Amino acid sequence: MSLAGKTAVVTGSNSGIGLGVARCLAEAGAKLVLNSFTDRDEDHALAEGIAAEFGVKARYIQADLSDGYAARQLIENAGACDILVNNAGIQHVAPIEDFPVEQWDRIIAINLSSVFHTTAAALPLMRSRGWGRIVNVASAHGLTASPFKSAYIAAKHGVVGFTKTTALETAEEKITCNAICPGYVLTPLVEAQIPDQMKTHGMDREQVVRDVMLARQPSKEFATVEQIGGTTAFLCSEAAAQITGTTISVDGGWTAL
Ligand code: NAD
Repeated sequence: MSLAGKTAVVTGSNSGIGLGVARCLAEAGAKLVLNSFTDRDEDHALAEGIAAEFGVKARYIQADLSDGYAARQLIENAGACDILVNNAGIQHVAPIEDFPVEQWDRIIAINLSSVFHTTAAALPLMRSRGWGRIVNVASAHGLTASPFKSAYIAAKHGVVGFTKTTALETAEEKITCNAICPGYVLTPLVEAQIPDQMKTHGMDREQVVRDVMLARQPSKEFATVEQIGGTTAFLCSEAAAQITGTTISVDGGWTAL
């Protein structure tokens, strides 16, 4: 499969899943636009590293996606957007009655509203080229719930619903829109939580991973950023041209429970 000639914008791609997805799309030959809210030398160096490693054009554009205007500007500044991967996301954990209002607003803005803004800005560019792929990184929590993650779960269910409407509005235009629903993925953020969990539960690493973190993931294995990247690349391929408006779970069986 080749994505040569396509430009991919991946939001929230200076770490974790977004970076893994960006690397997979670059490997398939896509030009890359990386993004996050910071504007550090290392962010730009990341894009330069991907360009050198895969022989594609890659650049980093700073945009704070909690701001709808900035989200639309990101796509305008990219200039082209054949592939849009809405990946940026944050989390906060608290019971509903104690959930800080500003955290609720921020999670809805970054995890849900930014998907609306980038999609609205990208669709005219995709239509002008008669082709497009939108991949929204939702979550198993876009399909099921857990306590204390109300904003995240509301946002991710919202992303799944928005994915379906986007697919229907573009169904006749060679543009597809789908959501990937990962279970737990081993990112630096998740890895960093393991030592604390070992202390809290008095368990070794293997027990924490199996019985605490992956308690609801029947495979008892984390998904990897490469697997999310590979699923994204598949959804961008010709083989997936008739897959639209749906979710693909990469969750080791979580949502089959
Ligand atoms: P991460 O923290 O490594 O990545 C999040 C990315 O979003 C980072 O690049 C971060 O800089 C960026 N970001 C945060 N706030 C932003 C803002 N205001 N503007 C622009 N960018 C911003 O975490 P991750 O685990 O790689 O998560 C990526 C996506 O995958 C998220 O949407 C998350 O909800 C989803 N997800 C993760 C898991 C998991 O187990 N790691 C599981 C299911 C879904």
